Amino acid sequence: MTSFASRLLDWFDLHGRHDLPWQKSKTAYRVWLSEIMLQQTQVQTVIPYFDRFLTRFPSVEDLAAAPEDDVLHLWTGLGYYARARNLHRAAKLVVSDFGGQFPQDLDGLLQLPGVGRSTAGAILSLAMGIRAPILDGNVKRVLARHDVVSGWPGTTTTLNKLWALAEEYTPTARVADYTQGIMDLGATLCTRSAPGCQHCPLTNTCQARSRCEQAHFPGKKPRKTLPERETYFVIFQRPDGTVLMEKRPEQGIWGGLWCFPESQDGDASPAHLATMRASAQEPTIYLDPIKHSFSHYRLTIRPILLKIIRASEGVAEVNSSQWIDPQTPGSIGLPVPVTQVLKTLALLQ
Ligand code: SF4
Repeated sequence: MTSFASRLLDWFDLHGRHDLPWQKSKTAYRVWLSEIMLQQTQVQTVIPYFDRFLTRFPSVEDLAAAPEDDVLHLWTGLGYYARARNLHRAAKLVVSDFGGQFPQDLDGLLQLPGVGRSTAGAILSLAMGIRAPILDGNVKRVLARHDVVSGWPGTTTTLNKLWALAEEYTPTARVADYTQGIMDLGATLCTRSAPGCQHCPLTNTCQARSRCEQAHFPGKKPRKTLPERETYFVIFQRPDGTVLMEKRPEQGIWGGLWCFPESQDGDASPAHLATMRASAQEPTIYLDPIKHSFSHYRLTIRPILLKIIRASEGVAEVNSSQWIDPQTPGSIGLPVPVTQVLKTLALLQ
């Protein structure tokens, strides 16, 4: 029986993905950018974002020098915005502390915000040809099945076992191809449901396959009911159609993105908000509620439209607020629900 790695490499040569945008000219910058985007996001979704980022920021220096609003704007729709803020911070660090070159060892890469052990392994192996294991979601699935590693990979015990296997199987030669190959196998063959075991190069040694227990591995995350929360988007609109938006604080949900004034306070009825923030309003308009899921709770957003009758009537602007045209919000980062509301407002104009 040939080794795990050589079977995987033979399969990769014939069936792996060789034309992903970040595989062309594999620099550390391109690989790092793609890996951060691919965390929690599918390849097909990432590709247009990756292309737009590279067009706007061809180098790590360009990214480091960009205003944060530009970075968040280009990230709009990808979700998990902490990734974008970390990306920007990491680019600045690469320029300020590493002379514009990505570190070429694990410890150095781990200093970059948003870069964990698996992302560092991908940068080292894919961009630099340095032997370093990776363990993204796809690889966890392949290894957990091949060696019937039980337990949810979110627990330290299970994770350590998977890292040990990743270390053991990573070859010393062709590490870039091996890394791409095992990611591709997980993404295209060893899929979550209905894995294509009959075409898999690992089928003869895969223990989950021999037991017909592919669906049992990796172990599932213990289920818990997500809490439900509710919030109001309070939309002040001037006669010219512009709406008041505020830049959110860096910390917390949608940090650094632009949003409508918000109130989670159950007492913050539209009438209360109206007297608090504006002097004279037309009757309140209730737009359709929007449901949005975060990893740790579900949010129901109730947008309330308050039209200001005369432009001169005051709505208190606070720091980091501006009046924005819903049809042309400009180069700013926006959470997806805010984008939805802006589209509705543009249709109402
Ligand atoms: S044989 Fe099936 S379950 Fe095992 S690694 Fe291959 S695709 Fe996955």
